[in-house]
Amino acid sequence: MRDALNAGLIEFLKASPTPFHATASLVQRLEAAGYQRLDERESWATVPGGRYYVTRNDSSIIAVKLGKQSPLIGGIRMVGAHTDSPCLRVKPQPELQRQGFLQLGVEVYGGALLAPWFDRDLSLAGRVTFRRDGKVESALVDFKLPIAIIPNLAIHLNRTANEGWQINPQNELPPILAQVAGDERIDFRALLTEQLAREHELNADVVLDYELSFYDTQSAALIGLNGDFIAGARLDNLLSCYAGLQALLSADSDETCVLVCTDHEEVGSCSACGADGPMLEQTLQRLLPDGDDYVRTIQRSLMVSADNAHGVHPNYADKHDGNHGPKLNAGPVIKVNNNQRYATNSETAGFFRHLCMAEEVPVQSFVVRSDMGCGSTIGPITASHLGVRTVDIGLPTFAMHSIRELCGSHDLAHLVKVLGAFYRSRELP
Ligand SMILES: [Zn+2]
Repeated sequence: MRDALNAGLIEFLKASPTPFHATASLVQRLEAAGYQRLDERESWATVPGGRYYVTRNDSSIIAVKLGKQSPLIGGIRMVGAHTDSPCLRVKPQPELQRQGFLQLGVEVYGGALLAPWFDRDLSLAGRVTFRRDGKVESALVDFKLPIAIIPNLAIHLNRTANEGWQINPQNELPPILAQVAGDERIDFRALLTEQLAREHELNADVVLDYELSFYDTQSAALIGLNGDFIAGARLDNLLSCYAGLQALLSADSDETCVLVCTDHEEVGSCSACGADGPMLEQTLQRLLPDGDDYVRTIQRSLMVSADNAHGVHPNYADKHDGNHGPKLNAGPVIKVNNNQRYATNSETAGFFRHLCMAEEVPVQSFVVRSDMGCGSTIGPITASHLGVRTVDIGLPTFAMHSIRELCGSHDLAHLVKVLGAFYRSRELP
């Protein structure tokens, strides 16, 4: 099972270079398992035991498996993750022609670790909005081929590079796409029109706008003498999206189960389709009994917010509290922050620990060093919007927000197992 899950994850990462593609990948896998699309603009006719999904902005998705009994009785089991990752986004008027090169201006999305973006074989993917026959439409594109690169400056021209080098994102990040003759002018939107024709065989009159990101074309891979690791882009947080999906698909239970994967976490989640927006609440309001019974149902429910944790790195072990250094391949990590950067409390952590023990899945704890600041997740945001009890957990990783992150190859199976047990659990605390 472990090998199949890891192979599935690598495939999923490859198919999901952007939040739009990640959502499409989830849709494809949910539909193959019999889940039906619910259109937010239409009224919904759902039945007990039905399987549904909703998308918003093509980049956030909620999958729901309705229980055979009313969710008021047993509560809802929710797993949350995010579809976006830090990256470089193409600017609206991106063409730069300097020194005979075509480059594209980029905006840094989220807290990207920038140095690893240099000397990588980059491609471009995302959503393009265009006009065809007088109508405005959108489609996803993925160039797939390595069409761009951000070459480093040679050390001979930057002798102190290894002593720390501040990267100016405006000046140093525009990727190079081609060499062009002096008077030749490249129109990026015309390139996109060609890509739409190539990829979808559609003839757009004009490209109106787009959200496109660069990504590394190197596939995720099993790494290490004994295959102990998986290296790949966007493990934060497609690893959790994939684990949640596999757990949901394997959980044949009578309970109501939800998987919510939202966009814009890396920039604070504040958007119409982000965790700080109304998408989850509006979806649940349409699916659950209203009034008193809605509140009663939420109060009987529980959310597992799954997002990667920082594993203790052998070269930088002092970055962790001595008693809280999660190890790769030693199971999911319960994340605690009493200042509510994580939503975990003793009741929800205790329940998650109980599930791990029952499934014989190893479990670890993380709390940040007292002299360092702490990251956050969709956990506290969802908890404060819905008023639902929440536990923040995640798999330990290295190089978070790099273009190539690292996780343990044994941990995905651990997480799928315990999330599956959560979805199947008869009783919540
Ligand atoms: Zn994350």
